[in-house]
Amino acid sequence: MAAKSKLGQNFLRAPKAIERIIAALGPLGTRTVVEIGPGKGAITEGLAAQAKHLITIELDRELAWMLQERFSPEKGFHNVTVCRQDVLGFDFAAAAKVAEESLLVVGNLPYYITSPILLRLAASAAAIDRAVLMVQREVADRVTARPESRDYGLLSVTLQLYGSTEPLLTLPPEAFAPPPEVHSTVFRWIFAPRFSELGVEEAAFIAFLKQCFAQKRKTLSNNLRAAAQSADRIGDAFVTTGISPQIRAEALTVEELAAIWRALSR
Ligand code: SAM
Repeated sequence: MAAKSKLGQNFLRAPKAIERIIAALGPLGTRTVVEIGPGKGAITEGLAAQAKHLITIELDRELAWMLQERFSPEKGFHNVTVCRQDVLGFDFAAAAKVAEESLLVVGNLPYYITSPILLRLAASAAAIDRAVLMVQREVADRVTARPESRDYGLLSVTLQLYGSTEPLLTLPPEAFAPPPEVHSTVFRWIFAPRFSELGVEEAAFIAFLKQCFAQKRKTLSNNLRAAAQSADRIGDAFVTTGISPQIRAEALTVEELAAIWRALSR
């Protein structure tokens, strides 16, 4: 069966990397694992051998059918559920409720929808314990970047608001068939949402972050003004927090951004 590039099908063929991805999830024997985009089952096989329950979400009808056959009770697998659907419509909260525990999520993601998947996982944070995900190297660099680094921006702050992220390993194109045009990096995301600790309201703070990072070249103060925040209130917020009005959002930690949000929300 030919790989469908429009579905981001680049199949992993690096046994050592597969072992490391599975190990990075931690012990699986008592856990429910959700695999995004199992494809031909490269990671699925090891997960099915270890997890209490494995739920796989595959959009490609032929692959989903193949997986259903391969991981069926007739073949000795009583712990695998194959969902033929779009991961962007998968209800992680409902799956966690059925499992009566938070989920472990894993996947070599289809790169054409990486950001929507990451944001969907963030929105489902209450249902997820940790995730180990393969993404394009440049995306992993942004996800795990710290303030003042070249890659730090809205994606870094947004994901780090929902927990901690760390890169684990990088693979060259040849580790996949067919090879993608980019390098790929696996990162781990331990979910621990920080909204109450930072004293911010989730939806309002995320909307505020989008304003802060709207234009990379502009100062934070100018970005906020462009978003119709009052100049007086912006000025007061910088005085209250002791942060320079000339600073750009890319130089601020999430704690500093939260301090400005709290000052503006008073
Ligand atoms: N896990 C396999 C591996 O590592 O060899 C395949 C990874 S491949 C990069 C991405 C997989 O995601 C493909 O099997 C593709 O069909 C599937 N996929 C693409 N879009 C999807 C979507 N919206 N929802 C669920 N799966 C999707």
